[in-house]
Amino acid sequence: MALVVHCRDVGFDCDGVVKADSEQELLQLVAAHAAEAHGLQEVTDDVVLKVKSVVREDE
Ligand SMILES: [Zn+2]
Repeated sequence: MALVVHCRDVGFDCDGVVKADSEQELLQLVAAHAAEAHGLQEVTDDVVLKVKSVVREDE
């Protein structure tokens, strides 16, 4: 079972989907995606909380 975050749910107008096996890995991948695709310089606590609130479990 994997954890999934849909970028759109975090608030970006983006069809990106990030999947990982752990929350820690997920946050790293989201940070990398946000930096690369959205120019986000820094993942703030607010962003981390937002990501955690929209994370889903992939079946
Ligand atoms: Zn995105």
